[in-house]
Amino acid sequence: MEKSERLRSIPSVDQVLQCNELSEVRKIVAHPILVSCVRGSIEQVRSEFLHNHDLSSDNVLDRIVNSVNTAIQSQAKQSLRPVINATGIILHTNLGRAPLAHLAIERMRAAAAYTNLELDLESGKRNRRAANVMQLLAMATGAEDALVVNNCAAATVLVLQSLASGREVIISRGHLVEIGGGFRLPDVFKSAGVILREVGTTNRTYCSDYHDAISPTTGAIIQVHHSNFAQIGFVTEPSLRELVTSLEDRPFPIIHDIGSGSLYDLSKFGLNEPCVKESIHLGADVCMFSGDKLFGGPQCGIIVGKKRWLERLQSNPIVRALRVDKVTLGALEATTEIHLSGQAFRQLPVLQMLSISPQELLSRCKGLHHKLSAGVKNRIGLVDCESFVGGGTSPGQGLRSYALSVEGTNLDFISKSLRSGPRAIMGRLTENRLLLDLRTIDACDLEYVASRLEELLSDVES
Ligand SMILES: *Cc1c(COP(=O)(O)O)cnc(C)c1O
Repeated sequence: MEKSERLRSIPSVDQVLQCNELSEVRKIVAHPILVSCVRGSIEQVRSEFLHNHDLSSDNVLDRIVNSVNTAIQSQAKQSLRPVINATGIILHTNLGRAPLAHLAIERMRAAAAYTNLELDLESGKRNRRAANVMQLLAMATGAEDALVVNNCAAATVLVLQSLASGREVIISRGHLVEIGGGFRLPDVFKSAGVILREVGTTNRTYCSDYHDAISPTTGAIIQVHHSNFAQIGFVTEPSLRELVTSLEDRPFPIIHDIGSGSLYDLSKFGLNEPCVKESIHLGADVCMFSGDKLFGGPQCGIIVGKKRWLERLQSNPIVRALRVDKVTLGALEATTEIHLSGQAFRQLPVLQMLSISPQELLSRCKGLHHKLSAGVKNRIGLVDCESFVGGGTSPGQGLRSYALSVEGTNLDFISKSLRSGPRAIMGRLTENRLLLDLRTIDACDLEYVASRLEELLSDVES
C-alpha cells in the first residue's frame, strides 16, 4: 500500500476518543490526560508508518486503542514510589537524600491537619512561626537563635543578601565551589547583590590574606565547606578558629556555609566532616547547613548563629518567600528532639546506616545469601565493597561494607527488572557486576530483596 494511503488510514483524535473500546476509560480518566495519550499513540503509529514501509494498515484503530490503554495504565501508577536503596550511598540525591525517623514521619502526619503553627496555645495569641522548633534547633547546636528556609542554597542567598548586600564578601579562591545542579558560588554572590572579594589561591590561603582584604566596604567573610571535592598535597587554609580569634572586634559577621550539617565528630567512622556545634562554639556568627544531609531530617536549610545577625535575616522580606511548610516543620521538630535526647545514632536512619559495623553488615549479607536457592547462589557472590555518605559530602571517604554481587551478562536487564517490580530495588551497577550493598538496605526489606533475586535469576540465562 502507498505511504500516503496508509497515513490516511490513521483515525483522527476525535474518532479514537469516541470509539467504544475506550468507553470505560473515558469515565475514569480526566479528559485532557486521555486526549494527550490518544495524541501520543496516534503520533507513534504515524511515525511507524513513515519508517517501516512493510507495516500493514490493518487494525490501525485497535493498535492505537491498545497503546492508549497501556499509556493510561502506566500514568495511573504513582510516580513517586518507595525505593529500596541498595546503592550503598546513604544520602543519595536521586533517592531523596535522608530517609526520616519513624517519629518524624508520625509528626508529619499529625501536622498535616490543623496545627498551632503560628499560635501560642496558652495565650491564644499569634506567635512567631514554629517558635518552639527554632528554640530546639538553637539548643541542639549551642547557638543563640535559629531560622529555617527551604534548603541550604536558599539559606546561602538569604544570608548573603541580608547581611552584605552592596558590600564586599571576602572568600578564599579555594572556596569558590560549584555545589551541584549548577549552584555556583560566584553566581550566587551576584544574585544576592554582594561583591565578590576573592583572596588567596586555589590551594593556599592564609589568615593574612583575609586581613589584607578588609576595608570599610567589607560586609562579611564566608568560609564554605568543600563538601563534594577534596584537595590534597600543597594545601593550606586558616581554620575557623584562627580566623575568628584574629578578628575579635570585627563589625561584620564571619559566615560558615557547612552544607553537610553533622552535629557530631564523625572521625571515628573515618569521615572528615565539620561539626556544627564546634563552629558555633568557636565563634562563627552564622552557620548554615542542609536539614536532609547528615542532620538526618527533612529537606530544609537551617541557619543558626548570633541573634543580632539572625534578626537581620528575619526582617528581609524575601524570608517569607523561602519559608517551609508545617509538615516539614513537624519532621524537623521530631528530628531535633531525637538529637537532643541523645538517641540520634539509634533513631535517625542516616546515622544508623553510617555507624553499622562491618561485622554486622557481613552477617546480614550472609543471611541474605543464605535465603537464596542453590541455582541462584551460583550467580551471586558475597563481596566486600565501599559504601559512601553521598549527598555531596565526604568525597573519596569510603565506609567498609559488604554486598551481594550479581555477575555475568544481562546485568542491565537485571538491574532494570529489579527497579520495575512492585517495590523498586536500586543497586549499584559497575562495569562487570551489579552490587547490592547491605549498608543502605533496611533489615525489614531483606526478605523482599531475596524473593526478587530468586524470581529474576532463576529464569534469566547467565
Ligand atoms: C549541599 C550544600 C549546599 C546546598 O544544600 P541544599 O540543601 O541542597 O540546597 C550548600 N552549601 C554546601 C557547602 C553544601 O554542601
